[in-house]
Formats: sequence, C-alpha cells, structure tokens
Amino acid sequence: MKKNCFKKLVNFMLALVIFVSLISAAAIPAYACTTAHWGGSVYYSRTNLRIGIAGSAINSVLTFNLYSGITGSGGWNNLHSPAKVHISSVINLPASPSASRDVDVVGWGFGGGVLGELIAYDSMGRVTLPTSNWSSAVIRMNDSVTIWGSTASERTINARAVFYHEVGHLFKLAHPVGCISLAVMQTGGFVGNNNKSAYVMTHDANNINARW
Ligand SMILES: [Zn+2]
Ligand SMILES: [Zn+2]
Repeated sequence: MKKNCFKKLVNFMLALVIFVSLISAAAIPAYACTTAHWGGSVYYSRTNLRIGIAGSAINSVLTFNLYSGITGSGGWNNLHSPAKVHISSVINLPASPSASRDVDVVGWGFGGGVLGELIAYDSMGRVTLPTSNWSSAVIRMNDSVTIWGSTASERTINARAVFYHEVGHLFKLAHPVGCISLAVMQTGGFVGNNNKSAYVMTHDANNINARW
C-alpha cells in the first residue's frame, strides 16, 4: 500500500513535470523565431565593425552620444561569447574626417516618410538586394528633427530604435514576419508599436546566432 502511494506520487510528479515543460514549449515560439535573416556575404569584419557618423547625421535629436551608445548595454555587442557581431568603434567624422571605417551614417531628406534605411551596394557600386553579396553600404537617417516625435524623450527613443534597427540590417537581420515578439528588428516606428523595442532583445540575439 505504501509502495503504491509512492508510485502515485511519482506519477503525479512526472505528470507535473510534463505539464510544466509543455507550458514552456508553448511559450518558446514567441522567442524562438530564428529565420528573420538574409543570405549573402558582407564586406566588413563582423566582429570589428567601425561605424562613421557624418556631420549631416548629427543634430539636436540625432546626437553623437545617441549613436555611440550602440556599443553599450542594449546594443549589439556582448550578445554571445565568443562574439558573433561586435561594433569596435563609432567615429565622429566631423572631428576625425579621415578615420578608417566600414560604413557611414548620413542624414537624409526623407521628409515625412521613411525614418531610416540601409542601402547596400554590389562590387560595381550598384544598389543591390538585401539577400545579395554586399561590397559597401550606407545608413541614412531622416534629418528632420520634428519627424522623430512630439516630446524630447519620444524623439530620443524613436531615433535610437531606428538606428539600432538599421545596424541590425547591416548584420543581415530581416524583419520578423508574423511574429509579435519584442524585437528591435520589428518593422515600423517605436512610438505606438507594442512589438518594437528600442534596444536589442533576445529575439534579435537569437537571429544573430542563427545567421552567423
Ligand atoms: Zn519571431
Ligand atoms: Zn527595417
């Protein structure tokens, strides 16, 4: 009788363990999407990326500090060990115009539309597809100060979300499709977009891991 009781307890505990793992299995898909990335090669060292910030991309919202923050927590560095991607320097080009770098960030007169974009080029200097082999690239940021939001904090978080997002594209990450996970690579603006993060999230790190 006692033995039977013990057996029942073991069975109950086993059932509990299975139930708990089913719950976590059901929760995994939200963070396990690892297909939001592009093929093709890149032209820079992924673990030694140097980003130049042009004077045209610096203003009262798009400050140099906002850009250089990408090497700190919430950015693309220190996601994996050993590193799969790493930004080694963010260069203030007005101060060091001849510094070596792999990609430039420039201000762009998009007007009321696009907030930012990555343009990639092939070996002939022609604009090429996200999925192709890249020979160079440039990040364009909307140079309108008012486009980024109606308050200072809204403008800052929106601009950061877009810059970190474009650098994610530089690492060949695509937009998550049909996925509501919190990610910096979600498409659209930050303000009023519940799935968009202004920082690199687990979902983004998982896709870096899957791609590289
Ligand atoms: Zn996903
Ligand atoms: Zn995008």
